[in-house]
Amino acid sequence: MQAEIADQEMQGVDLSHLTTFRMSGSVQKLFKPGDVEEFTEIIKSFLKVGKNFKVLGGGSNTIIRNGKLPLISTSKLSKFKFVGNYVQAQVGVKLSTIVKEAEKRGLSGIEFASGIPGTIGGAIFMNSGAFGGEISQCVEKVTVVDENGILNELDTSKLDFAYRSSIFHNQKMWITSCLLRLNYSTCEKVSERTQSFLEIKKRTQPLAMPSVGCIFKNPKSGYAAQLIDAAGLKGFKVGGVKVSEKHAGFFVNVGKATFENFEMVYNEVFKRVRDKFGVELEPEITIIW
Ligand SMILES: Cc1cc2nc3c(=O)[nH]c(=O)nc-3n(C[C@H](O)[C@H](O)[C@H](O)COP(=O)(O)OP(=O)(O)OC[C@H]3O[C@@H](n4cnc5c(N)ncnc54)[C@H](O)[C@@H]3O)c2cc1C
Repeated sequence: MQAEIADQEMQGVDLSHLTTFRMSGSVQKLFKPGDVEEFTEIIKSFLKVGKNFKVLGGGSNTIIRNGKLPLISTSKLSKFKFVGNYVQAQVGVKLSTIVKEAEKRGLSGIEFASGIPGTIGGAIFMNSGAFGGEISQCVEKVTVVDENGILNELDTSKLDFAYRSSIFHNQKMWITSCLLRLNYSTCEKVSERTQSFLEIKKRTQPLAMPSVGCIFKNPKSGYAAQLIDAAGLKGFKVGGVKVSEKHAGFFVNVGKATFENFEMVYNEVFKRVRDKFGVELEPEITIIW
């Protein structure tokens, strides 16, 4: 098995292709397992020797600092099957694929995810959501590799879903696949909702620029983007990283963004919002140090 794992290891991979922020740099070790079995084996091999690693989905919510931590990409775990109103999906399936396939079949419940990039695995980790919907509302169960390298099935009540959070933030478990439940509707109704959400996103978010979505969670009262805007930070820029003028919750890569640029913008936004409004914004994104 060790030789097979080594076959999937790539070294010195260009970082700019791994996250939607397209940050410059390189990753020392990247694994791209071809199926769930290989994914599980790679995780087990890290657990066995007590070495740290990180699983990466579409990289649409992740900033990577220096690429020293080995990464396991789920991009090849992309099989899915619709049975009635249920979807069985491996973690690397793109959220946009599930939205599109559900729309074709007149299945409702995941229209809110229209325009959210990334994979179903990342969406479950983040409990991604928009327009009042969240992925937790669709998840029936997930299969995970636990910290002992054992495969377990967990139903949704065990996943501690909360605003942009799940059990996977606090426990060493990695998702391999999931079962989603949608609701029967009509193609027309689903399509109308999907398109209207996408239109709103296009109008209000910098979708054409490289970004990782909202950088900060909304505080208990109000919106992070409104506070950032009111602190006069729209358009604030260091090197290749700028606070979007279209949506102050987004940072965009305006060219050759580095982690140092990102960190300086992040710290300045955090500080100015705290000093002006007494609110300490919390990160929504994952930063891989
Ligand atoms: C333009 C744009 C718009 C966006 N709009 C929204 C929005 O409206 N709502 C919203 O919630 N988000 C939004 N996002 C953020 C992001 O797209 C979502 O959070 C998305 O679901 C993340 O999926 P991913 O596969 O890219 O995750 P990644 O960035 O690859 O990973 C995110 C986290 O999940 C972990 N993870 C990934 N796969 C697994 C796995 N199999 N097992 C365990 N952990 C795993 C990673 O380690 C990481 O900590 C937006 C982003 C962009 C760029």
